[in-house]
Amino acid sequence: MLFDTHSHVKPWSHDSSQTIEQLLDDTAKKGLAGICLTDHYEKDMFYERGYEDIFDPDDYFAALSPLRLDPKTAAAQGKPAFLIGAELGWLPHLCNHLLWLTASYPFDSIIMSMHVFDGKDPYVDEHFFDEGIEKVYPKSIAAMLEMITSVSDYDILGHFDYVSRYYKQGNAKMLYKHAPDEFDSLFRKLSEDGKCLEINTKTTVRMRSMGYSYAESFPDQAFIRRFLELGGEHISIGSDSHHYGDSALIFDEMKDWLIAAGVNKLTYFVDREPVEYKIY
Ligand SMILES: [Zn+2]
Ligand SMILES: [Zn+2]
Repeated sequence: MLFDTHSHVKPWSHDSSQTIEQLLDDTAKKGLAGICLTDHYEKDMFYERGYEDIFDPDDYFAALSPLRLDPKTAAAQGKPAFLIGAELGWLPHLCNHLLWLTASYPFDSIIMSMHVFDGKDPYVDEHFFDEGIEKVYPKSIAAMLEMITSVSDYDILGHFDYVSRYYKQGNAKMLYKHAPDEFDSLFRKLSEDGKCLEINTKTTVRMRSMGYSYAESFPDQAFIRRFLELGGEHISIGSDSHHYGDSALIFDEMKDWLIAAGVNKLTYFVDREPVEYKIY
C-alpha cells in the first residue's frame, strides 16, 4: 500500500475544487495506506482570488486536527492515515516568515516548492520560456538549489520538474542531460541534508496530455539513478491531487516504474520525521 504525500483541498488551496470529505473518501477508495494534506501557502502571491494565497494556520489546524489519524491508529482501525502538512511556495524574501510558520504549528510534513523563478511564473507568464529550455531548465534547477540552501526547515522538495508542465512547444519532458551539473548539485545537497525527493505523478499525466507515449511519459530514470548514486535516501510519491478522484493518480504504474529504476522503499513524514516503507 502506498502513501500519497501531496494533496490539496478547498477552501485552503485557491486552485482546488475538492473538499476534505471528498479527499478522504477518495483516499479510502484508492486503497492508500494514507495521505498527507499539503495545502498551498503562497505568501505574497495573488492568483485567481484577488487576495493572498495563504491559509490562516490557526483556522487550518482548528478545522483539520479533529480529522487527523496517525498511521498506527489508522492501521488498527483499517482506515487510511490522514496527516496534515503544507506546500510552501518559496520566494527569496520569505525565509524568516516560513521558518516562523513551520516552527509555530504542528505540521506532519513540509513540501518546499518553487512556483516563481527569478520573479517569473511559468503558470501565468507566456514569456517564461523565451530563452529556450536549454537555458531555462538548468536555471530552474539551479534556483531550486538556492532555495534549499537558504531554507532548511522542510522535508520534501516538491515537483523538481514543475516548469516542464508549462512548456508548450513539444519535447517538454525534463531530462537529466538538460542540466547534469545542476541536478548533481541539487541531489547532493538533498542527500547531505537527508531530505526527500518527490516524484510528482501530475507531471507524468501532463506529459501524456502533451502527446508523450505511455512509456515516454514517465520521468527520466537517470534522475533516480543519480539521486541514489549521490547518496539520496528518501523518495516520496505525490499525486498533487486538487480535484475529486485524483489522489493516488497513476500510483500503481509509477510504483512499477520506481522499482524498475532501482527504488525499493518510499518515505512519508509523521510529526516531521521520516517513515520508510517497502514497495516490493
Ligand atoms: Zn506546487
Ligand atoms: Zn501542490
